[in-house]
Amino acid sequence: MVKLPLALHQALKIAALRAYPHEACGLLGGRAGLLVSWYPLSNVAPQPRRIYSIAPPDLFRTMKHMRRRGETEMGIFHSHPTSAAIPSPTDIAFAFYPEAIYFILGFSPTTHLRAYSIVHQHVQPIEICVVE
Ligand SMILES: [Zn+2]
Repeated sequence: MVKLPLALHQALKIAALRAYPHEACGLLGGRAGLLVSWYPLSNVAPQPRRIYSIAPPDLFRTMKHMRRRGETEMGIFHSHPTSAAIPSPTDIAFAFYPEAIYFILGFSPTTHLRAYSIVHQHVQPIEICVVE
């Protein structure tokens, strides 16, 4: 189970809507089992409607920033503008952070946010608990 403050839940929805019809992406930083920060990042994929890609300098700069702020847990967020919140084969193949929680906001059939752990291509759903 992962605790997600309502404000961050809203921020993810807004980011996904703003990026539509492209996939939105970014990182979430957390402390003591609670995600506390949202870092929206550019999707630099050549086909941003179907996949997301974070430029390595953006990724490393953000991770450094998170460490400086004492944030340990990490969430990796992206949206699926035309499909469900289920990791695609590409998402699974490029899930390089076994400690991270992968968040996907899907727009089909309705707007919904799901979380997963992806370790060595093994996908495990994680329950999201939205907190005030
Ligand atoms: Zn995806």
